[in-house]
Amino acid sequence: MQDLIIGIDLGTTNSEVAIVENGQPRVIAIDGDPILPSVVGLSSDEKLLVGKPARNQYVLAPERTVKSVKRQMGLDLKIPLGAQQFRPQEVSAMILRRLKEAAEKDLGQPVHKAVITVPAYFNDSQRQATREAGQLAGLEVVRILNEPTAAALTYRPNPDTNEKFLVYDLGGGTFDVSIVQAEGGVFEVLSSHGDTQLGGDDFDELLLNHIADEFQELYQIDLRVNLTTKARLLRAVENAKKTLSDHAFARIEEEFIAEKDGVPLHLTKELERSTFEQLIDPLLRRTMDCLQKALDDAKINASDLKQVVLVGGSTRSPVISRLLEARLGQPAHREVHPDLCVAMGAAIQAAIIAGSDVGAVLVDITPHSVGIKSLEVPDSFSRQFNEYKFAPIVPRNTPLPTSRSEIFCTVSDNQAKVDIDIFQGESGDVRRNHRVGKFLIEGLARVPAGNQLVVQMELTLDGTLKVTAREKATGLMKNIVIDNAMARFAVEEKDAAQSRLDRMWAESEWTEGDDEPIDPAKLADLLGSEPGAYDDDEEDDDDDEGYEKFPVPEPEEDAAAPRFQFPVDAGATTGQREAVQARALLEKAERVGAKANSEDRAELGRLTAKVKAALDERRWPDLQSTSNALADVLFYLEDA
Ligand code: ADP
Ligand code: MG
Repeated sequence: MQDLIIGIDLGTTNSEVAIVENGQPRVIAIDGDPILPSVVGLSSDEKLLVGKPARNQYVLAPERTVKSVKRQMGLDLKIPLGAQQFRPQEVSAMILRRLKEAAEKDLGQPVHKAVITVPAYFNDSQRQATREAGQLAGLEVVRILNEPTAAALTYRPNPDTNEKFLVYDLGGGTFDVSIVQAEGGVFEVLSSHGDTQLGGDDFDELLLNHIADEFQELYQIDLRVNLTTKARLLRAVENAKKTLSDHAFARIEEEFIAEKDGVPLHLTKELERSTFEQLIDPLLRRTMDCLQKALDDAKINASDLKQVVLVGGSTRSPVISRLLEARLGQPAHREVHPDLCVAMGAAIQAAIIAGSDVGAVLVDITPHSVGIKSLEVPDSFSRQFNEYKFAPIVPRNTPLPTSRSEIFCTVSDNQAKVDIDIFQGESGDVRRNHRVGKFLIEGLARVPAGNQLVVQMELTLDGTLKVTAREKATGLMKNIVIDNAMARFAVEEKDAAQSRLDRMWAESEWTEGDDEPIDPAKLADLLGSEPGAYDDDEEDDDDDEGYEKFPVPEPEEDAAAPRFQFPVDAGATTGQREAVQARALLEKAERVGAKANSEDRAELGRLTAKVKAALDERRWPDLQSTSNALADVLFYLEDA
């Protein structure tokens, strides 16, 4: 019988365990979750806690909780945990033991052997301590494997040629970048640089301070003082950060976060991805400096790299792939889940040691980027508007299923409609990409330019693409569903697929001048569109009620030219955005107020007066908070 050897990523923040079955690595769930927080604690009644429960108690009971023990591995010291003292390898052993037991439960048999990964920069005593931790957990450590090597293995388990990989690993508390060389199936780390005090935790901290500062300015209350409040806020910002990896904005809503003069205060905050990216920019620049050092030490150029591999949960933030691609001139790979690929690579190494065959990891990905046509604003040098700019929403090589969104905004005042023109391909010019569908969203609020639209794309495993456009301020929505927008491709088939698409493209009847919007009804027939939340019916004047009362001149009908939109960061200023939202809300309040009872109407009157005052006086932060309050009330009234 073949040896059963598991692969373990013993991380600073999170740990995982994986096994190879039928030539494919599989990550084993622990209590339903593939990720085990690397936190150990004692509960108030002295029970041992490992993973999530320990992490949850950290803020409230730090003296009974240990996290990031990996930083202490190899040091001759004792860590207090409750009344007792432990060596770092003993604490790590508790985490390993939890992983071992989860594997045994899943596999239905005892496990005695493991491959455990460590950072490339770990020295001998750190590696030795890791071995000891394994032994204490009842595991024979058959190999200590470098983390970047493990990651490279998930992409190329058996490379026959000489290849060099760059592995960029940004975790919760540490960052490192390594150059790995593979030759004849043997992997070697040529260089490794990093920062042991840089990671996703720092991003959370920056976000927390950003929000707490703003709250303090508004209410003179510091949310960081009370530990429970701080813990709540930290959890909320981490979740928001994760949302921002797939979506252009995230809402933070924490009720009763504080109290002022006996009145409870709620926290409602909308975070834009661009704000987050600005906050973390200085930290990301530091990672790029490390990257240059790693290249220099390995004496290679960016062009010598066969592949750029993303590792660590924090690399899910899209700004990182963007920076890397700009710096290295090639797209970074993130097909294999960045937070799981080290454990999977450890499992692959384990299978190789046990003598099993392993293949490259199979993943379902989108072989092409999918996005929409947008208008590029001219920079200060050229005065040319580019009408054919391709704005990708789902980048190619994204694992499926996926849901992504981006914000776009209108460019004209009183712009009533926007054309959502959907393409797949890699060119920055939509005319060189493949059109997969198109629809028109009409009846937008009559507001100045800068009206925000959220375009969301959901792509399923079977290649069905659902595109939704939603006017952010009013919730007006429309969507289409396109079957087989994207057939499933194995990685090897990508090139064949590309040339086939190119051919289809050349043969397609679509020509460059074909800019006319298709009649949405016809499109619905063609594409099997789902009726959106917005009713197309001309007779139905429900939506027009508000407009009549809103004293804005009707825009001139210009049916042939539904104008284009551009990504919001490129154009609208903060105030402009807030104002658009506020005006739309006021419009809606008038509509809703007409149907409300006298009490609700009074409440609406009070809130709209505040919004109008903030709008008139251009107090943007106030405008945002009062608008949010108004939106909340409208939400309940509409629902009632
Ligand atoms: P480590 O290797 O240090 O143990 P991980 O690779 O598991 O850590 O990364 C953990 C970090 O990744 C945390 O800071 C977490 O907030 C962050 N993270 C996890 N998922 C996402 C996401 N979708 N977007 C951004 N950051 C994420
Ligand atoms: Mg890691």
